[in-house]
Amino acid sequence: MLKVGFVGWRGMVGSVLMNRMRAENDFEGYEALFFSTTQAGKPAPDIGTPAPAVQDATDIDRLAGMDIIVSCQGGAYTEKYYPALRRQGWKGYWIDAASTLRMEPDSVIVLDPVNLEVIQNALARGLRQFIGGNCTVSLMLMALGGLFAQDLIEWMTSMTYQAASGAGARNMRELVAQMAAIGNGCAGLLEDPASAILELDRRVSRILSDPDFPTQRFGAPLAASLIAWIDRPVEAGQTREEWKGYAETNKILDRSDNPIPIDGLCVRIGAMRCHSQAFTIRLKKDLSVDEIRQILAAHNQWVRVLENERKETVARLSPAAVSGTLQVPIGRIRKLNIGPRYLTAFSVGDQLLWGAAEPLRRVLKIIREYLEG
Ligand code: NAP
Repeated sequence: MLKVGFVGWRGMVGSVLMNRMRAENDFEGYEALFFSTTQAGKPAPDIGTPAPAVQDATDIDRLAGMDIIVSCQGGAYTEKYYPALRRQGWKGYWIDAASTLRMEPDSVIVLDPVNLEVIQNALARGLRQFIGGNCTVSLMLMALGGLFAQDLIEWMTSMTYQAASGAGARNMRELVAQMAAIGNGCAGLLEDPASAILELDRRVSRILSDPDFPTQRFGAPLAASLIAWIDRPVEAGQTREEWKGYAETNKILDRSDNPIPIDGLCVRIGAMRCHSQAFTIRLKKDLSVDEIRQILAAHNQWVRVLENERKETVARLSPAAVSGTLQVPIGRIRKLNIGPRYLTAFSVGDQLLWGAAEPLRRVLKIIREYLEG
């Protein structure tokens, strides 16, 4: 029976992964062992069947007994323990949420509704590193998969509206704390419908610039504001988050030798766990909007092609509507008046599901099926 070790299952991505695996009965047919850097000896999480107590995630010998390891523990853990395991001669399969190994030549970035063939070829070639992609990139590919699959994109931009969860659990808490500080600070004015709007506005501005306003994690107000920078700077004025749009997309599609130009600006907004993106796409040919809608809708079972009209857009194309679901709606689809080959669209997706946990859950299944013949 295969042995699968889970590291990082207590964290934000790991918890979402555990929930999805429980919901899909994914713990059957193999031996699951749970590892932690801080909870060794404590009871394993509830997976519907008895599991041994939590193991020490720093015990290389114990880890080396696994056929497959799924890590949602973070980059620092991967940097330290992955090479140590390989040095010891471990030949198992490593599935990881962290970005550390993503761009290595021997790694595959996994998003099977988009690149199942790339994953299967990699397994056949003996590759053993299967890494989840950047959340924004994965969600963009889930929405636009049909256009990529038919090689219809000459170049594109993605302007993002990214949720607090992408920065981690403590940042989500800080966003809510900021909202609470604004709400509490304005309570008296809100209760009085006759109070002047400019007074309310001035009060909010004062709260945002108060030295006690909680900004330790984001470094600036996010509630009632936004932050037009995500991650560290790289070359040519891009942030690393923006660089990933080009590098990871082309790697996922296995076309790094014939890349599609992709760039854009990545912006943090006050949504909790859904990333949104506005696309500008230069098409290789002048297709009608109806043809484009059909191509998008036919690509995978999670994309939802919405009408470009107010009611459906307001009801269904927002973080509030999508949060906690696997659906990836894409709407506002129309030709830009720049010319017939310029398309725009807007999509939303849950960055903890398709953006993080779901591709890992699915690749674990694919690898198990491959190993079990
Ligand atoms: P996280 O929530 O910070 O969890 C990581 C680890 O922190 C846990 O496995 C746990 O390890 C430890 N931990 C300490 N105190 C904890 C507490 N009170 N509750 C739960 N865990 C606690 O990390 P994450 O946001 O899930 O990210 C994990 C990796 O996924 C990172 O490499 C990240 O870059 C990547 N990723 C994140 C996202 C995202 O949207 N956040 C998306 C894609 C990929 P022990 O059990 O060993 O204590």
